[in-house]
Amino acid sequence: MKNVILTGDRPTGKLHIGHYVGSLKRRVELQNSGKYEKIYIMIADAQALTDNFDNPEKVRANITEVALDYLACGLDPNKSTIFIQSHVSELTELTFFYMNLVTLARLERNPTVKTEIKQKGFGASIPMGFLTYPVSQTADITAFKADTVPVGEDQLPMLEQAREIVRSFNGLYGETLVEPKAVLPENRSCLRLPGTDGMAKMSKSLGNCIYLADSEEEIKRKVMGMYTDPNHLKVTDPGNTKDNPTFIYLDAFSTNEHFAAYLPEYSCLDEMKAHYERGGLGDMKVKKFLNAVMQETLAPIRARREEYAKDLNAVWEMLKKGSAQAKEVAAQTLAEVKKAMKINYFAE
Ligand code: ATP
Ligand code: MG
Repeated sequence: MKNVILTGDRPTGKLHIGHYVGSLKRRVELQNSGKYEKIYIMIADAQALTDNFDNPEKVRANITEVALDYLACGLDPNKSTIFIQSHVSELTELTFFYMNLVTLARLERNPTVKTEIKQKGFGASIPMGFLTYPVSQTADITAFKADTVPVGEDQLPMLEQAREIVRSFNGLYGETLVEPKAVLPENRSCLRLPGTDGMAKMSKSLGNCIYLADSEEEIKRKVMGMYTDPNHLKVTDPGNTKDNPTFIYLDAFSTNEHFAAYLPEYSCLDEMKAHYERGGLGDMKVKKFLNAVMQETLAPIRARREEYAKDLNAVWEMLKKGSAQAKEVAAQTLAEVKKAMKINYFAE
């Protein structure tokens, strides 16, 4: 049996370079590898509403943005099914049944959700929808019998939760659902790309992003304003490259060809890092090189994005078609789930 992929993004903003190295780039490679029977890419609008229910306009507008980012990065609707979560109502039904298999204490222990609750300042007033989004994510994955989920590191607790629900469901009602596994980026720096402000994660909700759609000037301004090593005051000071986002971005994006083209005095990143660590290499020079690397990486993506943006009707038509296809598959799984749960009263 060939493998099935499901993955997606919340339409809470345009996609950024953390998404690109953390998940998007890998998806496109997997899509083009021909090794997968089906690839489902979901725009998680219902999940985005769990912490943006007071701002549906934002979610709606960002569906277009995320779809454009997908197409610009090379996701191909002829090879992958791109769909909108809320349009597949079967996912909500599955969520309702899976909720019986999870305790409140288990949901409250999820480390990613815990961090997000703090960031969003929910305090004691955590919306139920938000707390239970890992359950709905299990519905998203299992509805398509996905076994492979390419994601960033922050999603590992969601995958663990999904596996628990699947085991519990299959144990209770009989072998029905497929246990998924996460596929993380191979490059360690891409697991959780930090923000330009040095925060642990670049995130749409934190405003510390370089977006795939950013103009040449915006990219330059953001790179030149980036947080570096706060103790590296003088050029001659020894610097830290490990917790320094400029070097983490170089780890994620730079190649030896970039050095040959823009900074031939070093043959590779290790040489440049060694110089920074022993002192004598200024932040300005590092940032100028990083800017050149980012410009070269993002220019073709931005150009393709602008092309697709000329025909938004075609983009929405693609989403409508993908959503109808996804709905058919999810309905099939829901029927199997209901049968296993012995609630398919009128089936025969
Ligand atoms: P939000 O702030 O609304 O949660 P986000 O920036 O975290 O937005 P998501 O839509 O939640 O983005 O995440 C989509 C996918 O991108 C997930 O697989 C996630 O792991 C991955 N991802 C998000 N941010 C990063 C990052 N900084 N580095 C690596 N992967 C990331
Ligand atoms: Mg997120």
